[in-house]
Amino acid sequence: MPLPIKAKTCWCSNSRLKDFNQEYAECLSCGTLVALKPLSDDQLFVRNDDSDFYGKKYWLDHQKEEFGYPDIYARSRNDLTERNLHWLKILLKYRFPLSSVLELGCAHGSFVALLELAGFSALGVEMSPWVVEFGQKTFGISVQAGVVESLNILPGSFDVIALMDVLEHLPDPIATMSHCLKLLKPDGLLLIQTPQFKERMDYDELVQSKNAFLSLLIPDEHLFLFTKHAVTELFQRLGVNHLCFEQAIFAHYDMFFVASRTHLEANTTEQIDAALMATPNGRFAQALLDIRERELGLTKRLLESEQDCATRLEQIEILTETILGSKRKKLGKYSFFHKLTSQ
Ligand SMILES: [Zn+2]
Repeated sequence: MPLPIKAKTCWCSNSRLKDFNQEYAECLSCGTLVALKPLSDDQLFVRNDDSDFYGKKYWLDHQKEEFGYPDIYARSRNDLTERNLHWLKILLKYRFPLSSVLELGCAHGSFVALLELAGFSALGVEMSPWVVEFGQKTFGISVQAGVVESLNILPGSFDVIALMDVLEHLPDPIATMSHCLKLLKPDGLLLIQTPQFKERMDYDELVQSKNAFLSLLIPDEHLFLFTKHAVTELFQRLGVNHLCFEQAIFAHYDMFFVASRTHLEANTTEQIDAALMATPNGRFAQALLDIRERELGLTKRLLESEQDCATRLEQIEILTETILGSKRKKLGKYSFFHKLTSQ
């Protein structure tokens, strides 16, 4: 039976889409999940912080009430350890301090602040003027208000542009990424975290298995949910042919990658250590990364230990059952023999 076709167009300009659920359809060409009822183009801008969708309420109430996320005050503390250190670690694999970084959708600005501490020259961009001021006051960082296309930035200004949980919000990812590439130096790179829609995911199966990806189906905000194949195609169309997929923090529903027009070469651990240890603040950043590595090591050992305990407990239960079983057998024989001889 032919699949129903929706009257909607994917970022790749294909309009042959098949049903996924009531709110999304899957592009038959590139495999992206396309939101069927996104916000209007007008709702994507923040002109009035008190009433516009991505204004102050989005950060104070919406994310908390709709999705149970902590508010911006808690996030500005938690994200430093829960997200930013991981992002910094991956960035250092490809670029050393003193490189210039632009973060689109920097929220409260903790990643920009951590980059500055590590020795990078970082600038954030955020749509809500209230959030911009929050970042400036909280972390003493440089943040500009608006969308990237509206900023007065010279072409070829940055070594890195970071988009953490931003790509899926863009109404025209080709146009925005094309603009970002102009702002990058020719050998600049993009650092991107975005949800990962895995090929052949079926909505009913996701619901039955209570898959964590379901929490990312937010059609008015997440306009495009890409597969690895789809992001590769998106960037290839823009002449970005070098993509390296890295470990995502929330690997069960996200993907994390760097993308560049030129060959990507990874720095060695020794080179990264030397670059950070060259400055006093770099040493603090290094210390935070060291603590995180230790924490990850301890978590891994704890999980292994719990697994080991569970395996041993299982073996004890099997052995106990075997011993009790053979005892029951012996007792059974004895009572039968006792019954015969006593007659
Ligand atoms: Zn498509």
